[in-house]
Amino acid sequence: MLLGVIWSFVSIWLGWGDFTLAWIDPFGEIFIRLLRFIAIPLVLFSIISGITDLGDTQKLGRLGIKTLSAYLLTTVLAVSLGLVLVNIIKPGERAPMEQRVQYRISYEQWAAANSEPIKDGRNLLSDPAYAHLIGAEKSSTAELPDFVREKAAETKSEKGKRPLQFLVDMVPINLFGALVDSSMLQVIFFAIFFGVALLFSPRELVRPVKQFVDGANSIFLRMVDAVMAAAPYFVFALMAGILVKMADSPSALWGIFSSLGWYALSVLAGLALLVYAVYPLLLRVFVPTLGYRSFFRGISPAQLLAFSSSSSAATLPVTMECVRDNLGVSPQISSFVLPIGATVNMDGTSLYQAVGVVFLAQLHWVDLDLAQQLTIVLTATLASIGSAAVPSAGLIMMMVVLISVGLPPEWVAIILTIDRPIDMCRTVVNVTGDATIASLVARSEGEEPRAVPLT
Ligand code: ASP
Repeated sequence: MLLGVIWSFVSIWLGWGDFTLAWIDPFGEIFIRLLRFIAIPLVLFSIISGITDLGDTQKLGRLGIKTLSAYLLTTVLAVSLGLVLVNIIKPGERAPMEQRVQYRISYEQWAAANSEPIKDGRNLLSDPAYAHLIGAEKSSTAELPDFVREKAAETKSEKGKRPLQFLVDMVPINLFGALVDSSMLQVIFFAIFFGVALLFSPRELVRPVKQFVDGANSIFLRMVDAVMAAAPYFVFALMAGILVKMADSPSALWGIFSSLGWYALSVLAGLALLVYAVYPLLLRVFVPTLGYRSFFRGISPAQLLAFSSSSSAATLPVTMECVRDNLGVSPQISSFVLPIGATVNMDGTSLYQAVGVVFLAQLHWVDLDLAQQLTIVLTATLASIGSAAVPSAGLIMMMVVLISVGLPPEWVAIILTIDRPIDMCRTVVNVTGDATIASLVARSEGEEPRAVPLT
């Protein structure tokens, strides 16, 4: 990974960017493709195999309730932590006041055009003190890339969706459709249903099916091993390609890291607190058998991959392997808890959404009161559950959070430039959170997760 970073800087410096994109970057993409295509069948077979090994549906129900409540609790905790930090650091208020006033005027114009009530009662548009600025203001979202514009329109039109739509969406219409679309929640739904039905079917009749599922599961696990054996080379290519794509001159690369500094700092501080304080504390209290040093050592391959791929879904096969082989969590539990976690538990993403929305409001000189911030807790929790485990999904879902508090979704354009590095970091947290909860659930089921000596 480090060599990839060094290579990207050197190649940008010497003008080898095109060479890197043509000859090195494709291998990074191949790596992600390999992992993503293994992820879906692996989830399918490992959940069915895990459920049939559990042997009783009561235990399954218990596991389900524990897993979902733990995921929900940590997500709410993460959003609250984000809100506390952004209210203490106030990154948006550190921008120059003239810029904030201009942004504010453009916000009020947006609100008037969209018949949205102004959040905090202030009204610069009808204030003579600001009259000279009107017309001269710069819209904060003038240079909106097409994909954000399209998504914003789509999200606005989905505003009136039914509250239970997410439950409806979880049920596949067609099994193959779910597999083709890589719709993780639908595949999980099918796998659980199939596994339970298999448990209740006559043993003699379904024995070959069980054998097939177990066999297929072990083949996909082998495939993960094979891909991971080449991971260092792939990760080099991935890192080099990503950084070269992010910026085409060394100063631009530096610009990405240094602009929006306070905002980035608030998100990164929150993510660091989750990884270095909240999860270790949870582990210490609930899984005393597993020191958090060994925990980190055990899951570090998954963390590194999450960082370089920005996708919990692509990382899932490796997370499952690390949790099972290095932390000693049984396959029955890890194959159930982790795929669900990869899709619904995104602590890093939810924290980032909370910080992002409040930062953007501060930047536009819009004060959000307590009730509005509590709405953020709720919607950021739901939005992180709804975010796909792929790069930039959290950014798109942040638009939903903005809409829910009556703010313009186009604001996300402001933080777009810096989103990729933040995405890399929040994905590490998402994956670490899943591994923590998997260890907790395993412990509560009487297992003793502990560091398995690495060979
Ligand atoms: N990239 C994140 C993940 O896959 C989701 C996001 O926050 O964009 O976990």
